Amino acid sequence: MTGASHSEAVRLMFAELCALLTAVFAASGVGPAQAAILADNCARCERDGALSHGVFRIPGYRASLQSGWVDGGAAAIVERVGPAFLRADARNGFAQPALAAARAELVQMVQECGAAILAIRHSHHFSALWPDLEPFAAEGLIALSTVAGLACVAPTAGARPVFGTNPIAFAAPVAGDLPLVMDLSTSACSNGDTRIAARTGRPLPAGAGVDRDGHPTTDPNAVLDGGALLPFGGYKGAALSLMVEILAAALTGGQFSHEVDFSRHPGAETPRTGQLLILIDPNRGAAAGAPAERIAGFLEILRAAGVDRLPGGRRYAQRRRSERDGIALDPAQWRALDEWARGAPAQAAQSSSRSPTT
Ligand code: NDP
Repeated sequence: MTGASHSEAVRLMFAELCALLTAVFAASGVGPAQAAILADNCARCERDGALSHGVFRIPGYRASLQSGWVDGGAAAIVERVGPAFLRADARNGFAQPALAAARAELVQMVQECGAAILAIRHSHHFSALWPDLEPFAAEGLIALSTVAGLACVAPTAGARPVFGTNPIAFAAPVAGDLPLVMDLSTSACSNGDTRIAARTGRPLPAGAGVDRDGHPTTDPNAVLDGGALLPFGGYKGAALSLMVEILAAALTGGQFSHEVDFSRHPGAETPRTGQLLILIDPNRGAAAGAPAERIAGFLEILRAAGVDRLPGGRRYAQRRRSERDGIALDPAQWRALDEWARGAPAQAAQSSSRSPTT
């Protein structure tokens, strides 16, 4: 660790941040195994500059745990319901430990069948989706995942919020390179960006949201104050968001975004819904050459066509900087983590906003 003065950024190596976050989660009521999994996930986000799902999320995790809304010690029940179909009941715990509990059997199923599906229900996913997928693509698999959220997206102007920001993530192996990983919410603007715009007095892009009367607005405060976000791309984004509700809620048995109700758990922020994960062995489908090499070749075509940024590229560049220089934390943020790791009460950690934050 370097730089612990009041103004200088504190720099931690990945393993140091994981250890600190594991202690924070453990001191917040998360079981030891689950704490290590959540810490790894959160540290990956911070390392890669996916800051909306890194250390920034810790107060929300802690407030949700403190409120009794989520069970940090839950052990998922995993059952095989078909040759290539697993389902997991996260039992009101976090989604990532449920995925970890299913992982070995899931990979075995892909080896046997060429593809496998994991349907997780009664799970809280409070992070980015790409950390769930990238390790599978690094092992040569194609991975696709969706998760439902908290109702804050109206299907169209004039309607009330029904969808969550409902992300879709996809990862594929690339010969000789890091996996290609894309991960995007199906709303025109994320909740985090909306809150930042409200704080900094910036308007939202046209088409991002509606006010409480359903009228289009670019005022972030009007969206947050009883209004709603809108899907990206009009009816096309709404269709994708509908697909997410079907895959991550109807299919898994988890709650639809509009069903999430934590009103009896003051402070709670994490959405209790469901997650679907599909894994494919790309080599089963290949007719003309290894898929990972064909993907690498196609990315070259894109670059030659003028594409200078591929999905995941910004994160990988930040990852390289973090691995070289350490992960920079704001000193106040680091001090808070240090206190929470030593058992400071969750009230001190609560976020100021009760808006949906996924
Ligand atoms: P962004 O719009 O920032 O990015 C979406 C994807 O597009 C990323 O893969 C990103 O790669 C890529 N990208 C961004 N800009 C460009 C560009 N100019 N050219 C090429 N590719 C680009 O993400 P969102 O705001 O939609 O979502 C942020 C995160 O929020 C996601 O990780 C998502 O999983 C998470 N989320 C989680 C929810 C939950 O319930 N758990 C709910 C909603 C969202 P790169 O990362 O390299 O920038």
